[in-house]
Amino acid sequence: MFNKSIREILDDLAKGEYSSREITKSLLERIKALDPDLNSFITLTEENALASAEAADKARSGGEIGSLCGVPIAHKDIFCTQGVRTSCGSKMLDNFISPYDAHLVQSMAKAGVVSLGKTNMDEFAMGSSNETSFYGPVKNPWDTERVPGGSSGGSAAAVAARLVPGATATDTGGSIRQPASLCGVTGLKPTYGRVSRYGMIAFASSLDQAGPIARTAEDCALLLEAMAGFDSNDSTCIDRDVPQYSASLDNDISGLRIGLPKQYFNGDTNSEVGKLVDQALTALEQAGAKLIEVDLPHVELAIPTYYVVAPAECSTNLSRFDGVRYGHRCENPADLEDLYSRSRGEGFGDEVKRRILVGTYVLSAGFYDAYYRQAQKIRRLIQQDFVSAFDQVDLIASPSALSTAFKMGEKSGDPVEMYQEDLYTIPANLAGLPAMSVPCGLMNNLPVGMQFVGRHFEEGLMLNTAHQYQKRTNWHELSPEKFGGQG
Ligand code: GLN
Repeated sequence: MFNKSIREILDDLAKGEYSSREITKSLLERIKALDPDLNSFITLTEENALASAEAADKARSGGEIGSLCGVPIAHKDIFCTQGVRTSCGSKMLDNFISPYDAHLVQSMAKAGVVSLGKTNMDEFAMGSSNETSFYGPVKNPWDTERVPGGSSGGSAAAVAARLVPGATATDTGGSIRQPASLCGVTGLKPTYGRVSRYGMIAFASSLDQAGPIARTAEDCALLLEAMAGFDSNDSTCIDRDVPQYSASLDNDISGLRIGLPKQYFNGDTNSEVGKLVDQALTALEQAGAKLIEVDLPHVELAIPTYYVVAPAECSTNLSRFDGVRYGHRCENPADLEDLYSRSRGEGFGDEVKRRILVGTYVLSAGFYDAYYRQAQKIRRLIQQDFVSAFDQVDLIASPSALSTAFKMGEKSGDPVEMYQEDLYTIPANLAGLPAMSVPCGLMNNLPVGMQFVGRHFEEGLMLNTAHQYQKRTNWHELSPEKFGGQG
């Protein structure tokens, strides 16, 4: 039962092969047996899960049901869940029980999903390896000495180990796509504004976007249909119809123009990764796509730009964690100053503190023009590069990550090296564009991912292309042997 996709689970539930309660129970048992090895969950919500599975079974036996009725999933612990701890991977929020549900949590509940719990993540979603979580690192199910990527490493590892068929995640600079790539699963970051950010703990508000991680493009389409849509509680959420992504997966892709940025195919990538991506592109060519070189002249500035903009926004967003209203508060503060500084000093980990310091610095009166304003200008140039490239092509392809999963501890001592992990993913966040990662091979038995970036709101075309690729290949079907797969 554990090896089923969301599509298959929906078909089985409809045919009565098993109930939502049965699959929910069996996945909960599987998580309890296997997750101690992975640490992909921070909180399991067993009782709530069984209650919603029973409600889903009852709903299915009569009347109208949601599109994902009875499907077990997990939520990244960045989404507020009413009555359940919402930690964001931080000691700061270890004691925080959210009084309300995030909009995404609510919409998915309306669609009928059964949430099994909250997945582990880098603290406040800052990281590329899941080593910064207060709850300990997540391990990569393909090799438990290696990282799963981050910050949505818990969601990606849980899907890869077949603990859940799908999970929610967030992506500010690559946190859906890079862990999806390193864990051999499919992940999609929607267009900025497609999914409400209400109740999603903010890291960098102009870049943050929620999306799905699942085994297949088809499952991502089904999850995205349930997540996306207008919400008046998020002023950046766009009021625009949500297409039925799952209905256009079988469209013919002949004539599709895929752009290959010359800056990305220049030998920087590990050459084995490059070879696997080339093979994947050949498969798409055989399906009728045309490959065209494109130029993104400013894309090389994406990482430094991001590491000015994201820390600036995070330093502002995280100022609310002051030990006064909620979250960690130090013992016996001497005065207000002491309360703030010790609560924050004790509650935040090193990476979060580093970002707050950088952010405060680049926003300070003396340096604002030199750093923050410059970064905003470059951000605009990067956006314009994509707009011009999309005059010539329909999608842009590249590797999702520089290489395969690296060893724990290998990069955690060198933040600048860690920041390079998001070389291919950050530009889409800066430009607000939708992007996804699809498994496209194995290298020394570790997964490699290919990335697609689309025009604003063209998630449908990306999912269609990814589905056509997955119909012709089986990389997305492989899973780590240690967790019952055939990888
Ligand atoms: N790895 C990037 C960072 O550390 C991106 C994180 C994210 O997308 N949440 O900021």
